[in-house]
Amino acid sequence: MASSSSYNSPCAACKFLRRKCMPGCIFAPYFPPEEPQKFANVHKIFGASNVTKLLNELPPHQREDAVNSLAYEAEARVRDPVYGCVGAISFLQRQVQRLQKELDTANADLIRFACNDLPPRSPPRSSSSSASADEHRRPRLLPPPSSSAAAIFLSALLFSPMD
Ligand SMILES: [Zn+2]
Repeated sequence: MASSSSYNSPCAACKFLRRKCMPGCIFAPYFPPEEPQKFANVHKIFGASNVTKLLNELPPHQREDAVNSLAYEAEARVRDPVYGCVGAISFLQRQVQRLQKELDTANADLIRFACNDLPPRSPPRSSSSSASADEHRRPRLLPPPSSSAAAIFLSALLFSPMD
């Protein structure tokens, strides 16, 4: 075989298929030699001839997107032969549903707090209605018992006989 040193290195597809990478190779722009696994996956799942046919049917500006999509699907199928990228999609859909439920719950809580006429910045407390009813019934005029006990203790110290 002649030396290929005068040519650029073949694209990953031509190298994989052991053929000469001709100028204008349809794979060359999308399967660079540095990413050999990309073509290997796509070929394994879809077949090189199907990919060639698909790329030829597409206008050039859509080919890169198509190749990236094929590569994503092929890699997912190689990793998960049963579900492929559907596994990832349904996982994300379940996550979206769970987060939507959490969001609905949080919105419902917000509405409930807003309807309870709480001040906007006060954090939610447990049984806030009974606490406010308590305040209405018995306003705090007397100091708490612990501090009055401390006062008695202090005055006992102050007025203790010093003989
Ligand atoms: Zn090529």
